[in-house]
Amino acid sequence: MPVEPFCSLPDAGGHFGPYGGRFVPETLVSALDELEAEYEKARNDPAFRKEFSGLLADFCGRATPLYFAERLTAQLGGARIYLKREDLLHTGAHKINNAVGQAILCRRMGKKRVIAETGAGQHGVATATVAARFGLECVVYMGAVDMKRQALNVARMEFLGAEVVPVTAGQATLKEAVNEAMRDWVTNVHSTHYILGTAYGAHPYPMMVRDFHRIIGDEARRQILQREERLPDLLIACVGGGSNAIGLFYPFLSDENVRMVGVEAGGEGIVKGRHAARFQGGRLGVLQGARTWLLADEDGQIEPTHSVSAGLDYAAVGPEHCHLRDLGRVQYDYATDDEALAAFRTLAEVEGIIPALESAHAVAHAIKVVPEMRSEDIVIVNLSGRGDKDVAQAAEMLLV
Ligand SMILES: *Cc1c(COP(=O)(O)O)cnc(C)c1O
Repeated sequence: MPVEPFCSLPDAGGHFGPYGGRFVPETLVSALDELEAEYEKARNDPAFRKEFSGLLADFCGRATPLYFAERLTAQLGGARIYLKREDLLHTGAHKINNAVGQAILCRRMGKKRVIAETGAGQHGVATATVAARFGLECVVYMGAVDMKRQALNVARMEFLGAEVVPVTAGQATLKEAVNEAMRDWVTNVHSTHYILGTAYGAHPYPMMVRDFHRIIGDEARRQILQREERLPDLLIACVGGGSNAIGLFYPFLSDENVRMVGVEAGGEGIVKGRHAARFQGGRLGVLQGARTWLLADEDGQIEPTHSVSAGLDYAAVGPEHCHLRDLGRVQYDYATDDEALAAFRTLAEVEGIIPALESAHAVAHAIKVVPEMRSEDIVIVNLSGRGDKDVAQAAEMLLV
């Protein structure tokens, strides 16, 4: 299959087909232009690439293992399951890949202050971590509801020297935190870089964040070829904004026989307001910088969302995923809260690995489809993060 049309996007305006673009207030356009120009320079600069890969190796702990889940495979009795162990990275999830890349860019642009939004707190922790490592002032916006759900991550950010600002507007979760971060950026754009945490937002973020995470798929591709001497049949990843999924998928897009499934948060089922599965009952709209698929009513009002995992609890999805879905290159399904919690338990009991509740959605999908596959088939599940942050919440729901 030719590299086009999958890997040549976005276009110069940041469009993935009809999605993406740059829908921001006038005051941010020059900052986005500056970021885009700096990123273009950096990606072609061997010094940048050397520093980035050096930090990924020695600070973050790459390459992460591709682990054969022998007992889960035996229990399910179908395809061979491999786990891409992003949970073993420094700070506990894939998000550090992107945070490191953006921190280097920030220093190159001469900015001394970074801001970020966070849902589960993983991106906040990753940002606070690189801010400490690079000596940058750091402010993290977090919904007050999420701060309660993820108290451990709030404490981590504070120990790392970040200021965590509670956001109480609306549902007091991720969407409101993004609004506050954008407000801060508009006000402090000359001194501040916004480390956006997923493959979302205005151009160049979706492209840049994807590129910083493609290391996941580059490694997985190399590792599976080494181990099995062939490509996998199926890739599975959970989709919040879509960064861990696009990071795994991207290097395989031109491999015709590799199927891919992105798993959204089905919450309590596909009932308005009770889930965060944008491709189930969503529509086309514009939110926080991008034209994309989102959960909104006929008037464009964003609907409330719900998921047991704060990291998937967001009303919009990264624009590249919408395009890949239109092209039929990636399929999107969902797992409910109950299915994710069951998968959380299963992986802990059978493999000795406690996954993040986000990642448990991908595991839940594997548990559903693997028994129907042939024993010679190969599946790679992206284990985007570890479950330490979720243990208290899961205990409340499962152990009483
Ligand atoms: C934030 C997070 C996600 C969701 O974000 P994506 O950008 O969709 O990857 C998934 N898993 C973990 C562990 C996370 O922390």
